[in-house]
Amino acid sequence: MNQEDFQVKYIFVTGGVVSSLGKGVAAASIGHLLESRGLRISMQKLDPYINVDPGTMSPYQHGEVYVTDDGAETDLDLGHYERFTDVKLSKASNVTTGKIYQSVITKERKGEYLGQTVQVIPHITDEIKSCVKLMANEDIDVVIVEVGGTVGDMEGMPFMEAIRQFKKDVGRNNVIYIHLTLVPFIKVSGEVKTKPTQHSVNKLREIGIIPDILICRTERGLSEEIKEKISLFCDVEKNAVINAPDVSSVYEIPIVFKRQGVDNLIIDLLRLTDKVPLPQKEDLWADMVNRLKSPKHSLTIAVVGKYIKLPDAYKSIVEALNHGGIWHGAKIHIRWVDSEGLKSPIDAEKLLSDLGGILVPGGFGYRGIEGKLEAVRYARENKIPFLGICLGLQCVVIEFANNVLGLTGANSVEVDPETPHPVIHLMEEQQDITNMGGTMRLGSYPAIIRKWTTTIKAYGLELISERHRHRYEINPKYCAEFEKAGLIMAGTSPDGRLVEIVELKDHPWFVATQFHPEFKSKPTAPHPLFREFVFNSLKHQGRI
Ligand code: GLN
Repeated sequence: MNQEDFQVKYIFVTGGVVSSLGKGVAAASIGHLLESRGLRISMQKLDPYINVDPGTMSPYQHGEVYVTDDGAETDLDLGHYERFTDVKLSKASNVTTGKIYQSVITKERKGEYLGQTVQVIPHITDEIKSCVKLMANEDIDVVIVEVGGTVGDMEGMPFMEAIRQFKKDVGRNNVIYIHLTLVPFIKVSGEVKTKPTQHSVNKLREIGIIPDILICRTERGLSEEIKEKISLFCDVEKNAVINAPDVSSVYEIPIVFKRQGVDNLIIDLLRLTDKVPLPQKEDLWADMVNRLKSPKHSLTIAVVGKYIKLPDAYKSIVEALNHGGIWHGAKIHIRWVDSEGLKSPIDAEKLLSDLGGILVPGGFGYRGIEGKLEAVRYARENKIPFLGICLGLQCVVIEFANNVLGLTGANSVEVDPETPHPVIHLMEEQQDITNMGGTMRLGSYPAIIRKWTTTIKAYGLELISERHRHRYEINPKYCAEFEKAGLIMAGTSPDGRLVEIVELKDHPWFVATQFHPEFKSKPTAPHPLFREFVFNSLKHQGRI
């Protein structure tokens, strides 16, 4: 079927004034509302930076790298898309300047431009547009595309130009532009100011993009008068000036938008025909938000990592913990413990004794490993509920080998290439690590869970599929010894070659996974491991 045979609509979401206004959450909330109107959507993020993907970026720079089922390493906003909607994201869902240039230059080298001078317009912009069109097919009604950065950024220009042209290409009734801006409150004068919004909309108009909807981030909300003023100066209908006040949880945003009729507005502007709505989806969400806003318990969980100065580095883990908390009516407080500051049993006692559970997340390199091992030891010996993720599992194995099996110096070859006991090693086929990114195990793989384990009790399933992002694996040579001493290989790849899950036998709840369960958790459907980890942590703290 040709693209011309079905009519897909497009929504472009841009941002102005300042960054970090929550464009990702706004785009995801719009996706959520359209899905509950029965519309089938897909979502994409265009990132103007030059990295081909964020896989090689430090989490300090860019926050977490979110991994899709098909193994794409993507921007963390894609996590919001999957948490708020039912979209299935893929490699095509995140496009960067680096990716665009890489493919244009490859075509140029192959002679595909037939002697032309290759330029930003039309070649780069055409490449961007064709990436956007990849999101459309006969099973999709609306494609939502978020453009990273802020209007006016130099590196965002080709993307802005491409989305401007898009309207002409696919028909004026098939595209709308939604712009997020900031309407600051100036304390000394006690007023909100619309001028930054006016400037930001002017900037868009200079490029040739006229916004259809303005989402205004404010501390306290917009009065009718301010809405009128913005409508007048920015030439946007008053009912399309949307109030987006600060809220205590991002999960309230779809409700805030719904109340202001954002879904109806979009449906009218795009001349979408009515579908069968799914009110139960809205009810489920509203119920989740109610539970979130009236917790019965409070629970402290320690997250022991090395990127704790930027909690966005662990975005999906924080959200998955929150989802478990919402399910059990508990407000989660995270105690961020810097693994580099956790040097001795005294530190562990001080930082980890009075809480419900300990989580050791993923990570790369040797820094902070000692502190993570200390946290694992503390949780194991003191029977504190524990969840280890990826590097967290590898630390469990290293700690157990050293302190329980007495294999002094046991380590991961990532941390100590000369270790006498390489309990975490590289599989043979992975020995060449010269191409960073190239040798990682990325994306979804199946695993089989062993019967009568803590893990199978959580999942209620034998065959699971979870997302991976790692290079090293448990060395199978040591598995029998681990088992004998009480570290159970609770899940493996279906061929039995790779260990996916370990758990401790004589412990109330101690599970570690080689994969990243946090990527598949949703606010209305917490991941089973996070749900059970939170439950057991509540029990440990005597809250239930
Ligand atoms: N650095 C470890 C590996 O590559 C763990 C990776 C992770 O925690 N995501 O195997």
